[in-house]
Formats: sequence, C-alpha cells, structure tokens
Amino acid sequence: GLAESLVAMLRGTVERFGDREALVEVGGGRLTYRELWDRAARVAGGLRAAGISRGDRVANLLPAGVDWVLAFLGTQLAGGVAVPVNIRFAKPEVDYVLADSGAVFTFHPGEPLPDGTSFAVDDLARDEVAAIFYTSGTTGRPKGAMTTHENFLSNVENVCRVKGIDVETGWRTRNLVSVPLFHVTGCNTQLLLQLSYGGSTVVMPSFDVRRFLRIISEERINLFTTVPAIYALALKQPDFAECDTSSVEHVSYGGAPMAPALVERIKAAFPRARVGNSFGLTETSSISTFLPHEHSVAHADSVGFPAPVVDVAVDEPAPGTGVGELLIRGPNVVAGYWNKPEATAATFVDGWLRTGDLARVDDAGLVYIVDRAKDVINRGGENVYSVEVENALAAAPGVVEAAVVGVPDDVMGEKVGAVIVADDGFDAQRLLAHLQDHLADFKIPQFLHLSERPLPRNPGGKLLKRDLRSTSTWQGPLWGR
Ligand code: ATP
Repeated sequence: GLAESLVAMLRGTVERFGDREALVEVGGGRLTYRELWDRAARVAGGLRAAGISRGDRVANLLPAGVDWVLAFLGTQLAGGVAVPVNIRFAKPEVDYVLADSGAVFTFHPGEPLPDGTSFAVDDLARDEVAAIFYTSGTTGRPKGAMTTHENFLSNVENVCRVKGIDVETGWRTRNLVSVPLFHVTGCNTQLLLQLSYGGSTVVMPSFDVRRFLRIISEERINLFTTVPAIYALALKQPDFAECDTSSVEHVSYGGAPMAPALVERIKAAFPRARVGNSFGLTETSSISTFLPHEHSVAHADSVGFPAPVVDVAVDEPAPGTGVGELLIRGPNVVAGYWNKPEATAATFVDGWLRTGDLARVDDAGLVYIVDRAKDVINRGGENVYSVEVENALAAAPGVVEAAVVGVPDDVMGEKVGAVIVADDGFDAQRLLAHLQDHLADFKIPQFLHLSERPLPRNPGGKLLKRDLRSTSTWQGPLWGR
C-alpha cells in the first residue's frame, strides 16, 4: 500500500535501509539513508527556526546535488511546500516564479543550508500540496502545478509497475539522473522513485555527455530516464563504444517526441536493457503512458499504454483519423495551477486534464501523440503535424537534427518550414527524394533554414519553436513548391 505522505514514505525507507547508499553527487559526497534523514531533519529544523510553517512555499535555486535533495526533503519534513526553480531561467523569469509562488524562503547557491535541531514531523495528509512545479513554459508563461503527496506517491506506483521494479528488491537499483531535478521527471520519476524502495540515486551537478557515459560504467548504473536529445548526443560520441553499459537494465526516454529512427540504435547500445518510452506532463506529476520494451521498435511512434492508475480519452476524435485532444484522469493529475483560477478552470475540466496534445488511440489501446495542438501547421486547410515531418527529416541522410514550424503565408495561411542541422552528407535533391518516399506531397517543407548551431532546446530537451519561428531566415520556395 501507499504511504500517506512523502515524509511517511521516506521514514519507512530509512527504517528498513538506513545503512544503504541513498545519494551520490558526482564529484561531491555520498550519503546513506540514515545520513540523508538526519541532515534533512536539520534543514527542517533550520527552516522551522526561520519561521517556516505548514503550507509555506520554500523556493529552491540550487544546482542538482546533495544540497538540492536536502533542501527538497527538509522542506517536506518542515511541512512546507517545495518550489523547485528552473535555474536556467533568466533573472526576470526567476523573479516571476518567486513572486508568483509567494515563496517566503529561498535556498540560494553558495549560502549554507539552514540548520536547526528542533522540528516535529507533521502528519501530513495525502491531499496536501507538497510541491509546486512550474511547467517548462514552452507554450507560454510557466504555470505552477500544485502537486500533492498523493500525486507524488501515485506516480511512484505507476513507474514501479510499468517498469516491473519489485519493491522488495528495488534497493539494488542504481539510477543516474541526467535531467534537471527541478522538473517532474528528475524529481518524481527518478529521485523519489528510488527513495520509495531504498535504491541509490546518482546526480550530476552539470550535464556533460562524456561524464554521463563514464558514470554509467563507474557507478554500475542500471536505470535511467532521459530526453531524446541526450541519447542523440551520447550515441554519436566517438568513445561510446568504450562505455561499459553491461549494468544497465532499464532505459527510458520521454519529455519530447522521439524519432523512431533512434530507438533501434538505443536498443543496440544498451543490449541488456529493457527500453521504453514514457509520456507525461508536469500536470500529471510525470508519467501518464508507457510504451514497454516489447513494443518499442514495432510501435516506436507510440507513447504506449495508459499507466496503471491513469485513464486516457480522446476528446472529439476527428472522423477518419480519430485524432483529438488527449484527456487524462487519475490520482497523479495535480490539484490545479497555483494562483491561476482561470487557467485551472480551462485545463482541468469535469475531472479530466486537457493536455493540449493531439493524439489518437489504436485498437490495441496504444496512444500516439501526433503533435502539440499549438504546433500543428494549417496549410490552406490541411493539417500538417510537425512531429511527423520532423521524424521523416531525421531519418534522411545528411540530417543531424530537424524542427518543423509554420511559416506565415498570405494565401495559404501557413506553409511548412524546416530548420535543419546538416552534416557533409546533406544534399537538397536527395532530401527531396527521401521526403517524397515518406510523406504526402502537401507535408513536404517549402522553406528551409540550414542552421549552423544545434537547435535551441530548453533544459527538458524540448525544441523552442517560438525562437525558431522568430529567428529563422527562410530559403524558399523550394523545389518549385
Ligand atoms: P508549458 O505548458 O508551460 O508550455 P510544457 O508543456 O512544455 O510547458 P511539460 O509539462 O514539461 O511542460 O511538457 C509536457 C509535454 O511534453 C507534453 O504535453 C508533450 O507535448 C511533451 N512530451 C512529454 N513526453 C513526451 C513523449 N514521450 N513523447 C512525445 N511528447 C512528449
């Protein structure tokens, strides 16, 4: 059964596995579960002494590492609400999050953690808000998702079940976190998952792909989840072949669309691992659907089946294609947006979360995300799903990375524009031939921008299409289109 709160969950793990390794910071310290609890309790005491009481928001601007985890857990033990902040945000964005959340205390890098002895672990209720995670802001201003203890715990249950991790033997699991802790994937599906059954978590204060590969073998990592962009980067490292991946048992990806062409390469790179795709949102406390190993190549364009305690539905499926907005319901769906009653009313409707993603579900129950509603290109009345065109481009010879956005057009409304990072093998005529083999005519890009630099992404690996729309200088019309 589920614990009542994150604090109760952690207390249970500490009682069973006090001497086991809980946390490793690459280039920093190592803590057992007992040490983790004792030090988090001192932080909680310090927060209480600083006047923090139940329900107060406590912001966290620390880089990933032992102190980040102590700040998060100390906030829980003190009964506060953790507000993890995206440390790559520019100052005005950080100021926005601090003001919007109404944080009464902030953990800053370079300052000692609060320290005190006297605190009482409250009996927190499952429906109390434990943290406010801000969405990535890919489509607008970040919104604070109010994540309750129950939301966290039901995500942990979902992840254990879809990955087949046995809670009795999970303590053997060693997870490497290569995505930010301030987003739900790093915090909920990696750190808190491990804390639930006594596994070890290895965190990297800053990401470097060569270090990532080295740590996998040095720390005998057997579980990790990261974004497609990191796999693409890792697999093209010349020293990848020297990386010992024999310890790796579970590999998953998510957070952004995965090019099907990359999945087989991931399987080949981690031959002993079960490989899966997980799809989720900040608003679902991380995973909502999961594509298991058995389907990961045959249905590489799918995000899989609904997680065990999740229901999905497609709103107003279009005749013929069955595509409509994906709706999600379950105990992992957050309590709403902090401080934003209108956005909450528009997004959380009749018990369902409106995801803003367009999807269809096949007869076997597999879910396919076809695009974000805001990224669909309307070319003279024909819908062009940017993800489909990106996948076709990514599989073309000479293409390293590709993004597809709408280019305003007086007649058509929008035309299709592709931003491509190319290598020496690139040839425009060859690309056209490849696209004609894979895409309907109206989906083939009419405009091109060859980018000299990697495509802009946020820390979650998502393409920043807003930036591409405003900065690309288009060559076109191409190929006489
Ligand atoms: P904002 O709402 O502020 O724009 P955001 O939606 O980018 O932020 P997140 O909650 O981090 O913030 O992202 C969730 C979105 O990421 C999903 O709605 C979906 O579009 C995309 N996504 C997540 N996982 C996958 C996946 N496995 N495959 C395809 N897309 C994914």
